[in-house]
Amino acid sequence: MRLSRYFLPILRETPKEAEIVSHRLMLRAGMIRQEAAGIYAWLPLGLRVLNRVADIIRAEQDRSGAVELLMPTIQSADLWRESGRYDAYGKEMLRIKDRHERDMLFGPTNEEMITAIFRSAVRSYKDLPKNLYHIQWKFRDEVRPRFGTMRSREFLMKDAYSFDLDQASARHSYNKMFVAYLRTFARLGLKAIPMRAETGPIGGDLSHEFIILAQTGESEVFCDRAYLDFPTPEAGIDFDDVAGLQATVDHWTSRYAATSEMHDADAFAQVPDGEQMAARGIEVGHIFYFGTKYSEPMGAKVTGPDGQERPVHMGSYGIGPSRLVAAIIEAGHDESGIVWPDAVAPFDVALLNLKVGDAGTDAACAKLQGELEAAGLTVLYDDRDERPGGKFATADLIGLPWQVIVGPKGLAEGKVEVKRRATGARETVAPDAVPAYLR
Ligand code: ATP
Ligand code: MG
Ligand code: MG
Ligand code: MG
Repeated sequence: MRLSRYFLPILRETPKEAEIVSHRLMLRAGMIRQEAAGIYAWLPLGLRVLNRVADIIRAEQDRSGAVELLMPTIQSADLWRESGRYDAYGKEMLRIKDRHERDMLFGPTNEEMITAIFRSAVRSYKDLPKNLYHIQWKFRDEVRPRFGTMRSREFLMKDAYSFDLDQASARHSYNKMFVAYLRTFARLGLKAIPMRAETGPIGGDLSHEFIILAQTGESEVFCDRAYLDFPTPEAGIDFDDVAGLQATVDHWTSRYAATSEMHDADAFAQVPDGEQMAARGIEVGHIFYFGTKYSEPMGAKVTGPDGQERPVHMGSYGIGPSRLVAAIIEAGHDESGIVWPDAVAPFDVALLNLKVGDAGTDAACAKLQGELEAAGLTVLYDDRDERPGGKFATADLIGLPWQVIVGPKGLAEGKVEVKRRATGARETVAPDAVPAYLR
């Protein structure tokens, strides 16, 4: 992609309304634009990151056996009257009337709708277990939308819903999501710690929030430092191995980790002194087993092996891709701008032409762009007629993992410069050797 043809509205000044660094950087780097309080347009650069985050989430959901569908954003109030949540949900729900005066709403979550979809199609235990998910925009009329896409009113969510015959198999479904989440966050370059969360009236221990430690986080958390060194489950892990998966989950819940709502000071005191972490964190995911809370009132039943009908056991599993984009920046930036992990960077390479209009430099850059793209890398080629200083600043701000810097002086000596954004390390390389160097 040539920057001269792209749409990258960089802000020179630091926006005053932005309180935290990720919000400031997303605005400055031209990733998002606020359209109303808590409602954002995703500009081209931001959208590329959001899509990459969603792709990693999708790949790990699929690997675990979950099946993707897509439900609408607008829902009928009648569905929510069936579960009793229409009145209970309160002001966070955006309620809408259509032209026939029918009550509609912009979905804040999808338990009711997925339960209706499930009950219309599944009758027998033989069709279980099932896990259905989608990645769709949600709306919650947050009291205090803030921190940009970290807490917005319209936001993207991956929400999955599992259906099982009984509690034991529901636990296995829960464990699958638990492991898929560990893998997802690790692939995003994040250390997310599963922490026990409130389960509401159903009780039990089957709810975990996945929390990233960050000073700007809104949650107060307490945990054992040991979690930071726990290994991520391998890609080849067998999701059908009930005992194996349980052992992984047991390991990942063996140490102390809780948010302030679940905090037990006495239990925390048992954690060795140097290992205690009282910190702030960002909730990036939340998984939940809630039994027959929706299947019972909504009549989502299957016949068991004994011929008896019974309500299915369900769980729901959320991740916020739009919040994650901000969280990744909170975890990866320096004074010059964003430092993307390779896995989610909007482009792999910033190719900087230091003398646009110089025939040799232009030709070398065009050739490099072609070769890098042929090697499978994505390239943002800064071909604008601007001073080098401005190009360096832009490249640092938008944080692409590699910068390839091409000028007439270097070319005369048969060299271009390659800079790794994360470390600042620079190396001079022959133009022909660049694609191999970046692989
Ligand atoms: P919070 O405690 O931050 O309000 P929540 O517990 O209400 O979040 P869940 O219902 O558990 O959120 O939703 C699942 C995931 O959706 C969250 O873990 C988070 O990643 C994301 N999410 C929830 N609310 C927002 C929001 N307002 N803006 C962006 N992402 C959100
Ligand atoms: Mg909330
Ligand atoms: Mg929460
Ligand atoms: Mg939650």
